[in-house]
Amino acid sequence: MPIQQLSEQLASQIAAGEVVERPSSVVKELVENAIDAGATVINIEVQEGGREFIQVADNGAGIPAAEAATAFLRHATSKLSRVEDLNAIQTLGFRGEALAAIAAVSQVTLTSRSPDEEAGIRLSLDGGHVTSRTSVGAPQGTVIAVANLFYNVPARLKFLKTAVTEKRLIDEFVTRYALAYPGIRFRLSHNGRITFHTNGSGQVLDVLVAVYGLEVARELLPLEGEREPHANGIVVEGYVGPPSLHWSNRSNLTLFINGRWVRDNNLSYAIIQAYHTLLPVGRYPFALLFITLPPEEVDVNVHPTKSEVRFHNPGGMFGAVQRSVRQILTADSPIRPVGGLGAWNPTPGWSGSLDDHATIRHAEHWADDDDHASPTPAGLPQTEMGLTWPAPAAMPEPSPLHPLPAPSMNLGGQRLPIMRVVGQVGAAYIIAEGPDGIFMIDQHAAHERILYEQFMAQQQHQGVAVQGLVTGTAVHLPPSQATLLEENLPVLAHLGFQIEPFGPQAFMVRALPALLARQDPQQAVTAVVEELERGDAPLQAEKEAKLVRRVCKSAAIKAGQTLAMPEMEALIRQLEACQSPHTCPHGRPTLIHLSVTQLAREFGRT
Ligand code: ADP
Ligand code: MG
Repeated sequence: MPIQQLSEQLASQIAAGEVVERPSSVVKELVENAIDAGATVINIEVQEGGREFIQVADNGAGIPAAEAATAFLRHATSKLSRVEDLNAIQTLGFRGEALAAIAAVSQVTLTSRSPDEEAGIRLSLDGGHVTSRTSVGAPQGTVIAVANLFYNVPARLKFLKTAVTEKRLIDEFVTRYALAYPGIRFRLSHNGRITFHTNGSGQVLDVLVAVYGLEVARELLPLEGEREPHANGIVVEGYVGPPSLHWSNRSNLTLFINGRWVRDNNLSYAIIQAYHTLLPVGRYPFALLFITLPPEEVDVNVHPTKSEVRFHNPGGMFGAVQRSVRQILTADSPIRPVGGLGAWNPTPGWSGSLDDHATIRHAEHWADDDDHASPTPAGLPQTEMGLTWPAPAAMPEPSPLHPLPAPSMNLGGQRLPIMRVVGQVGAAYIIAEGPDGIFMIDQHAAHERILYEQFMAQQQHQGVAVQGLVTGTAVHLPPSQATLLEENLPVLAHLGFQIEPFGPQAFMVRALPALLARQDPQQAVTAVVEELERGDAPLQAEKEAKLVRRVCKSAAIKAGQTLAMPEMEALIRQLEACQSPHTCPHGRPTLIHLSVTQLAREFGRT
């Protein structure tokens, strides 16, 4: 084929593909435009997951009649005029591509009126071409209706998912923006039914209730930016979940940078890192972070959908996020009352969307997530969340013998109350009495946690206590392990292992961390080498932390060990002193709490 320039029509369709991938991208762009226009009310209506129809109506600034057609031209924008403006973008849009892209692949009707004009304008476009233009009476604001998306791009149409899936993606965008803009009243309806709405009260918590339900919302820990000012003018605010709230994927990590929702693996990882050792393996926390920084510190012009950004100082961002989250999780505050938010109550008369079951539907969407996110956060009884699965009838009666969702688990990083040891069960569990009921403690997990915190504290302060071996012990290893150990000798030295090469495949162990004093040096070294073999932890700190966990595991009391009363008492006193007594360093629970109320309920006393 000879080289020839593409027709304008084809070129726009190709360009449109970058911005408009599916119905949810249309919703995102239209909602962003409404927010940029200063709207305080945004109504979104979709039919069949947006495949047939999407309409976004706002009460914002409107588009002057004379500019209406221009708005649909490629690279037409009112938000940017000079190249320098790119360095300090304050609006969500700026590329002037969205309306052109949407119009190129659908049938669009715009109705708009700006406050300075008497009459509004109505403009219809088909495949990007204006087909009619009339003057109409209209309230101030803008309504954009998009019908038959991709009707002229069959290849795209084929790749759309079912209406249910497309609807879920739309829900995700709308709820995100509702969370970031609590002062805007959002309403989303699907096939004529309202499925989500917010009250525009300006309170993020009201939106959190609408999205996640009261039970989850009241667990969340607020992150107040001013408490921890960071370098480069970075401020981190929002809400994080206690460690007891976790999901099987990252879908509840939500990040906004200067009011813009973004995907950022690096920052998501910073959040996950902050929960390190507090969550079970393979589980992910809840976080909703609003990060603000000077606009010139972030490049938002990286991708046509603007959902990825680049930071001038990515390391600083990572550190700021990780520190802020970690700080709130380990905050040494007294046990919070149930409901944690203290004085907060939903805005009067506001019950979120619970009445119309939007929360339930939201949860269903989680349930049909590709990677099967568990819809119910751990630690919350499903019945109390008002969720509908498994069907209530199929729910087993809670019994003290089942691992009940324990209220005490909701305390996350919080300290334990003073406990009285009652006895040991199965040579594995310690039973203790607290001010509010019974604690069942896994002796191995609890001891691991104690040793881990002692070890970390030593390392931070005076250095790890070391136990010298009078004569030294020689250890032989297979070649691959020997290489690995040799490479890691400096890391291990930092942890209190004094080991020297002693001929090919042989090492001389001169000293061990005092924790391991009673262990066979050969076994201790082998355990550490096996841990090194398992891990791909590129960062020194991460590698060390893994090794420390391994060391603590080897050194901890095992299940099957009978303990005398004073030993159990000592263990419990030490656990009470821990910063994060509720989980072992690998994230498994150390204890189960049965409150007095639960006991009374189980015995039918209430
Ligand atoms: P961008 O948002 O990047 O400027 P768009 O193609 O999304 O580009 O929109 C083009 C222009 O149309 C905007 O710059 C704005 O002036 C106008 N516009 C679009 N939607 C609205 C709206 N809902 N209210 C007011 N003006 C709007
Ligand atoms: Mg835009």
